Formats: sequence, C-alpha cells, structure tokens
Amino acid sequence: MQERFSFQTEAKQLLELMIHSVYSNRDIFLRELVSNASDALDKRRIELLAHPEYEEMEPGKKLSSPGIRLSRGDEGNILFVSDNGVGMNRDELTSYIGTIARSGTKEFLAALKERKEAASAEALIGQFGVGFYSSFMVADRVDVVTRRLGDEKGWRFSSPGDGTYTIEESEKEEPGTTVIVYLKKPDPEKNEKDYTDEWTIRDIIRKYSDFIAYPIVMATEKKIDGNTEVVDEVLNSGKAIWRRSEKDVSDEEYTEFYKHISGDWEPPLGHVTFSVEGGTEFRGLLFFPARAPFDLHFAPRREGVSLYIKNVFIMNDCKGLVPSWLRFIAGVVDSEDLPLNISREILQDNPHLRIIRKSLIRRVLSALKKMMGEDRTKYNGFWKEFGSVIKEGLVPAELSEKGNMDGILDVCLFPSLNAGDGYISLKEYVDSMKEGQKYIYYLTGRKLSVLRSSPLLERCRRMGWDVLLLADPVDEIFAPSLPSFEGKEFRSLEREDALEEVDLSASEGEKPEGAAGFLKEVLSDFVKDVRISFRLTNSPACLVNDREGGSFAMEQILRSMGQEVPPMKRIMEINPGHPVIKGLQRLLDSGEDMGSMKEYAFLLHDQCILAEGGHIEDPSLLANRIAVMLSRMLEAEKGPESTGL
Ligand code: ADP
Ligand code: MG
Repeated sequence: MQERFSFQTEAKQLLELMIHSVYSNRDIFLRELVSNASDALDKRRIELLAHPEYEEMEPGKKLSSPGIRLSRGDEGNILFVSDNGVGMNRDELTSYIGTIARSGTKEFLAALKERKEAASAEALIGQFGVGFYSSFMVADRVDVVTRRLGDEKGWRFSSPGDGTYTIEESEKEEPGTTVIVYLKKPDPEKNEKDYTDEWTIRDIIRKYSDFIAYPIVMATEKKIDGNTEVVDEVLNSGKAIWRRSEKDVSDEEYTEFYKHISGDWEPPLGHVTFSVEGGTEFRGLLFFPARAPFDLHFAPRREGVSLYIKNVFIMNDCKGLVPSWLRFIAGVVDSEDLPLNISREILQDNPHLRIIRKSLIRRVLSALKKMMGEDRTKYNGFWKEFGSVIKEGLVPAELSEKGNMDGILDVCLFPSLNAGDGYISLKEYVDSMKEGQKYIYYLTGRKLSVLRSSPLLERCRRMGWDVLLLADPVDEIFAPSLPSFEGKEFRSLEREDALEEVDLSASEGEKPEGAAGFLKEVLSDFVKDVRISFRLTNSPACLVNDREGGSFAMEQILRSMGQEVPPMKRIMEINPGHPVIKGLQRLLDSGEDMGSMKEYAFLLHDQCILAEGGHIEDPSLLANRIAVMLSRMLEAEKGPESTGL
C-alpha cells in the first residue's frame, strides 16, 4: 500500500532552496549520492561486526562484496546509483530523508533568509551539507529503493520534489540502496550536461570521488577485437589519499576529499599530512577549514576527525583524537596498531590513541606556526574565525596535557594598543618591548572598543609601550594563569603593581594627600584604598586591583552567569596632575566643609566605572547627581551674563 507524506517544514524549505537555487555547479549531486553510498558501505562493515549473521542474506546466499554501481536507464534520462551498504528500513527512510534532524536547522534557515545574495547562500548551504537533496537540482523525480541489512523487506520512496513523497513496500534482492534519478531534460542553451553520458560521468567521478575506498563500477562499451562489448569498468582509483605521497596529490584532489569528509562547500585553508613510523605507527591528513561553521559556538559540535585502522574505516567523529580546542579540524587518522574491533568506549583509554593525539597536537600547532610565518594575512583570517576556540586550550583545565602551553602561545594573536585594527603575536610583542619594560602587559574586558579607551592605558600610550587587549570571554579565564613567554611574565594593567618597573613619581609635582584621605573616607563602602598614582595622564582617577584580586571583568562574567559574587573592593588611584583632583585639594585646603563635597567623591567613583565600561549599581542616583551638577554649573554661567545687562 502506498502512503503519502509531507516533508518536515525545514526539509521542505531546504528542498525548495535546492530546486530554485542558482548553482553554477550541478555536477555535485553525483558526488553527494556517491558519498552517501560510501557512508552506507562504511556502516555495513560496522554493522556486520556486531551481527555476523547478516552476512548470509538468505539461506545459502551471502552478501556480495561491497561496491557502488552507476547505471543508465534503457530509455535514457534515468541514472541509477546503487550500493550494497547498510540500507534503510521504513522508519529510517522517513526520518533520514523526509526530515532534517540536524541541530541548528532553524538557525541555518534564519541565517539564509538574512543573506539574499546567492554566493553566501551557497556557502551556507555548503556548510549545512544538504547532500541527498541536491539531486533535485537535476531531477524532476527521485526514487530511493532500499532494504536494510538484516531485513527481508524493501521499501520505495518517491518524490517529485514538491514537498511530498510516497512510501510503499518494494522488492529488493539484496540489502542496500538504489537511488533512481529521473533527470530533467538538459537545456543545451544553458550549457546543461547530460548526466547519462559516459564521459560526463567518468569526469565527475574522477574529479570528485576518485579517493572513495569502494569500487565505483559502470558498464561501458568497449571495442574488443573489432566487436563492441559491454564490460564493467571501475571508474575510481580508490587509493586512500592519505596513503599517497603529498607531491602526487593535486590541490583539487585534497579539496574534494576535504569536502567529502567535512560537508563544507568551500575549499580548506590548508592541510597537514603526516606519516609516523617506529613505535606507534600511523598516518593522517588534517584540514583547516576556511570559515567557522555557523554552529561552532552554540551547538555541541561533532569532532571532525575520522579513524581508520589499517586503511579500514572505523568511525567518524572519533572522540579523543583531537582536543576540543581543535574541534574545527576535519580529517583522517589511519592507525597500524589499534585492533580492528575496537569500540568507542575502550578506545578512550588506549595508550596508542594518547600517543597519536599528542603527536597530532604538535603537528597542527607547528603547521599553524608555519602558516603564520608564511602568509600572515591568511593566518589573520584564520585566527579571526578560530582563535577564540584555540585559546580554550590555554584554560587551566585544558592544560592537563602538559607541554601544549608554549605551542599554543606561539600561534596566538591578540589585538593590542599599538596594532591598530590588526593583531600582534607574542613574539612580536616581546621583540617590540621597550627598554626597561619588564612584563608583557594586558588588559581584559568585554568589548574591544571600550578597552581601547580605558584610562588604564594612558601611561603606556604616552610611553609607547604596547598592551594586549583581551576581549574574548575565554581570555578572562586563562589570562590570570598565563605563566611567561620567552622569559617575560604576563601582568594585568588592572593590578596596582602594574608598571612597577617605571619610576613615575619623580617628575611629577605635589602629592594631594588631603584629597586622597578625603576620598578614602567618603568612599569607604566602595573602595579599599585611595592612592596617588602617576599612571594616569588624562583621566582624574581609575580603579585597580590589588595583587590577589581577580579581574573586574571576571567578576562581571560570573555575575552575568547568575553566580553570587561579593562585590569586589578595588583601589582607587588618583591623578595628582588632573584639575579635578587639584580642585578637590584646593577646596579642602581652603577649609571647605567635607559634608558638602561628598557628591564630588561619588561622582568621581561612578565616572571611573563608566570609563571602564562597567555597570553602575544605581543609574538614577547618578543621573540625579549629574542633573544637580549641571544646574549648578548653569547657574554659575548665568551669573555674569545677567549682571552684564
Ligand atoms: P548526510 O550524508 O550529510 O547525512 P544526506 O542528505 O546526504 O546527508 O543524507 C541523509 C541521510 O540519509 C544520511 O545520513 C543517511 O542516513 C541516509 N542515506 C542517504 N543515502 C543513503 C544510502 N545510499 N544508504 C543508506 N542511507 C542513506
Ligand atoms: Mg551525504
């Protein structure tokens, strides 16, 4: 009995997008179908490990050897893509093909709607990997006839791409899947290809699917001794790309392989190959994507590295091969030592895996260092996409694997006071340190633009010392525990002992001790101490931490996460050269009543918080104080004018 269904809403929207899209390259539908067939054959192998009895599909009849077959319909305009992989049962057919279960679908569609231009839509679709649906670019009907490994019945899915599909029971001799693509008539005016043409198919397979590990077979006509015979021909070389020597593999081949394993649309930014012998033996090929996937930060990401053992596919998303701070990397690792029947659970504790992981981290970091040295513009682009993820590797909890710290610091880039819109590396920072500068200075905060105008930077700006500006949320977590780089310790400019190596006091004039004492008394609920400091040049005052205190931004982060944090009392530093401080001192000297001056102290404290982009506890109180001050000032302005009349 035939049943009719509707595609899930999101699936329908994606489908429409595919059909109406302006793709320049429709060839990729075949790549996608072959890629699915290859995945299904990988799954067959895994399934047979658990159920060796499935090997015998009916009494006395064994499964044929794994492969993919392309064939053309007799009446033309039909292309069959068959595999004897794991197949699908009825439920799988509706849930894998009729719906999109992948997390982030809604976000993806919303992002697509926002971007009208075709080019970025393409990139987004690529990130999402719409796979099977791409066949609707070339077809006006697609059928899927499939039988699940271990089942006796088969099923036929059929859809004209209008948002509905039917499912009915169907004969199927062997487990596996045949996708039947009813091709649209190619329009020669639009340069559309005939996808039943032998040479068109050969070209596409060679270009996109050569590395597929299973034979892709097609019956072709051959002249043998003057007679035309039909013979099966294998169209792909099937050679694992990571087992070939790097100089024999073209960039295009690497790119196509990357697209196959990652589902990305864009070529990768770069890759690393490696072959390690002696002791633990393994090979591998890892890619750096060009762009962060849209869900890098908000969805639990799968890990992108697949595990092979002795050239046999074992699993995708192999946990533990790369640390989570390298989760954006896609690639393959092929081990010679792990046992073929290893399970995900046991794998975690395998000593070979730990050795491989360590080696991968080292290789990735040195490849990044190389990229940074060779093409800084490219590396800046990379850092912009993935830097915040890599920096997660500096968080103390991640550093349980010792020895990564230096390697990670080597490839880190930071915005800085002197770097303009660009970035500076730590090596560059240390090289540019001025005479007498002892520490690598940094300032953390929540927004780069606010950081740039922080009063704490004033003295450094005047002296020409550079300061790293750390505005990623993750920076706040690792910065306090950074040890040193090339023998130079890190120090936050928020600390009271920042710039201790500079003797600032000598050149400046009077010390307004009275003003300091007055402020300390009035502000005792808010600050621990008030000190005279020469670090400021333009601002009247600022707030700093004592040696032990955490950073102010950290306190804010904890609070925004809903944690109870006792308000941190900081130290107020005042600038003796500033008119505000001088004015306070003058009023005190002239015997002004302290009670009437309190408002100045509160205003000054709020002003410090505003300048660092902080949160004012009681904005309406501040607004009132400003209003009172303004009216007083305006009163004073009015005075001479009115008398002048
Ligand atoms: P993806 O391959 O990225 O998962 P696709 O749209 O290409 O997305 O395929 C969707 C799902 O349909 C696959 O994950 C798989 O479960 C199933 N599928 C597609 N083609 C086949 C096939 N030939 N054999 C078995 N399952 C398949
Ligand atoms: Mg696919």
